[in-house]
Amino acid sequence: MAVLVVGGAGYIGSQASRVLRKHGYEVLIYDNFSTGHRRLAQGFEVVEADLSNTAQLTAALQRVDAVMHFAAHAYVGESVENPRKYFRNNVEAGLNLLNACLDSGVKRFIFSSTCAVYGVPERVPISESNGRNPVNPYGVSKMFFERALEAYDRAYGFRYASLRYFNAAGADDSGEIGELHDPETHLIPSALLAVAGQRGELEIFGTDYPTPDGTCIRDYIHVNDLAEAHVRALAHLSSGGNSLAVNLGTGHGYSVKEILTAVEKATGKAVPAKVVPRRAGDPPELIADSKQAETILQWRATRGLENIVQTAWEWMKRTTPSLAGS
Ligand code: UDP
Repeated sequence: MAVLVVGGAGYIGSQASRVLRKHGYEVLIYDNFSTGHRRLAQGFEVVEADLSNTAQLTAALQRVDAVMHFAAHAYVGESVENPRKYFRNNVEAGLNLLNACLDSGVKRFIFSSTCAVYGVPERVPISESNGRNPVNPYGVSKMFFERALEAYDRAYGFRYASLRYFNAAGADDSGEIGELHDPETHLIPSALLAVAGQRGELEIFGTDYPTPDGTCIRDYIHVNDLAEAHVRALAHLSSGGNSLAVNLGTGHGYSVKEILTAVEKATGKAVPAKVVPRRAGDPPELIADSKQAETILQWRATRGLENIVQTAWEWMKRTTPSLAGS
């Protein structure tokens, strides 16, 4: 079976491409390299094009049986400041992909969704029965796409898996793949960069949240575990399983301060940090209830926070020459 991995040169898509190949799937990467990295796509056949390019999309779709869609912007803070960018890419360009799939008869679709669709959840841990009520444009853009998939399922017999990631983090053991955003705003790589003296102090966004230490709590999930879940979801759809939306997390939450402690343990160095006001759009606590993924996909996270931070640090040292020997 052949899979079009849209955004396959990115952090999670490149990992999923490798796991797909390991499981015997043929992989065709589709990426415009706006944020993706050529070296993450090395060794794969790549179509370099934008999602607005219907002719290229259609040609690529002729060659595959299923699509995994990773090509989206994923910064909460940026989405609050520049929602237009998020709706253009995550909604408009995404719909162009979806419609090209429909026109090409490719009806199996794995979608990178997010726990941000829940907004400030009614209950934590968050199960899929929590209402969707996003509190930032990023979450809104992802919820829109989920709803489009649901409508296409009902109307056109599309089969989809909306995989609601909690906080993707960590690096591949091979040392090939880690977080490589520019600029980097995610907590774990930002804290590691601060330790490494590659940026200024880490800013802790608010210590006045209704959590035990006042900082936000998130459920950090290793990128390898996430990638594996995609392959399980595809196998589920391919064996005639129904469309589904499931959470992908570990079920354990860590506060920002706990993350900094984990970073200090992994690196043996203090994280230079200062407290600043809250960042707009951040819910206080997001922790997954992943029972549904366990039951339906026979998937569960295998790596914890220590492994996430350790692999991220190893990867950063490997990719930042000035840190060699740290
Ligand atoms: N955070 C922080 N300082 C940073 C980056 C993030 O305090 O420099 C906090 C952020 O407010 C959130 C958590 O760390 O509570 C995780 O943020 P991240 O941007 O990594 O992921 P998000 O949850 O926004 O997808």
